Amino acid sequence: MSNDKEHITLDPHVHTDRSLDSFGSPNTMAKWAKNFGLDAIAFSDHNVNPLRRDLLNGLEKKFDITIFSSYEQGQVLPNDPTPNIKKHCIGLGSESILFDHDIAKVLEHIRRQGGISIAAHPFCRDGFPDYAKLGFDAVEALNGTTKPHKLDINNIPKVGGSDAHRYQDLGYTYTRVYNCGNNRDEILESIRRGDCAPGGITIPPMHLVSRFLELVKKYATNPLELLEEARSMASSMNSRVPKMLTPAQAQR
Ligand SMILES: [Zn+2]
Ligand SMILES: [Zn+2]
Repeated sequence: MSNDKEHITLDPHVHTDRSLDSFGSPNTMAKWAKNFGLDAIAFSDHNVNPLRRDLLNGLEKKFDITIFSSYEQGQVLPNDPTPNIKKHCIGLGSESILFDHDIAKVLEHIRRQGGISIAAHPFCRDGFPDYAKLGFDAVEALNGTTKPHKLDINNIPKVGGSDAHRYQDLGYTYTRVYNCGNNRDEILESIRRGDCAPGGITIPPMHLVSRFLELVKKYATNPLELLEEARSMASSMNSRVPKMLTPAQAQR
């Protein structure tokens, strides 16, 4: 990661312990994101309203890091409070969450809130492989927990997100955002223009294994949830898309 003036590093896909399957308070995640050299992060927790702006402002000040309101919709575990909304979508910069089966309405809601819709891990774990046709603003072309894939679509901004579920997952995967300062509006504007690119690498497998062991401890009394998490992890580790995806194929 670099702190030169030409770009900032943003991780738009960070979970905190507000997500059922994650560890690390917002305070811990913000602290380590800063320690690992990130300039900006978004708490994209599963199926909850973003943290209040005044709380985020406090963390921004405390750790000198830019923090976006955000969320990730989509079921993660069988006892998820939103069992019928399966597919994963991030509302970066959105101040509130809209639960709706109609993805067009969700994308519109995010846009009205001044945010950017991101198709998270589009080819696995209940992503939106048809993100281009659906009108997403951006696609997560590099997800920290998924095998990298090549996307040959030029007309949609591409971002990278760690999908960190613990602080140890931070810093490997991020987005380089060009021609902006640390101001949230400027960062979002650069992404809308496509002035951004995925950066870094995926999270080392040993971290994902140790995350799974933490989950074993957390869900020792609920094997069904553990099984679901194991299934999800296996599917993301094995997910593959055709090596050379043509734009036409990818937009289908
Ligand atoms: Zn997801
Ligand atoms: Zn996620």
